Amino acid sequence: MSKKKRGFGPKLRTRAGFSVRKRWIKIVSRMEAPHTCPSCMNQKVRRMSIGIWECRKCGFQFAGGAYQPSTKIGQSSARTE
Ligand SMILES: [Zn+2]
Repeated sequence: MSKKKRGFGPKLRTRAGFSVRKRWIKIVSRMEAPHTCPSCMNQKVRRMSIGIWECRKCGFQFAGGAYQPSTKIGQSSARTE
C-alpha cells in the first residue's frame, strides 16, 4: 500500500478574529459531519487527523484536505494515482 502525503492545500492561518472564528465554526461543523467515501460511496468517512481521512465502512484511508476530505487539489491529485 503506497500512501503518500500530499500537500494539504491552503492551510488556514488561524488568527484570532471575529469573522475568522465564525468561519472556523462553519469549517469545524463541516469537518465533523460524515463525508462520502470515494471508494465505497458510503457516508462513513471520518477525519483521523489533519489531512488524513478514513472510511469506517471499508477502511479506505486517504489524504485529503486538512478540514474536508476533498479539496480541489485533492481531487486532481487523486486522479493521477
Ligand atoms: Zn468506504
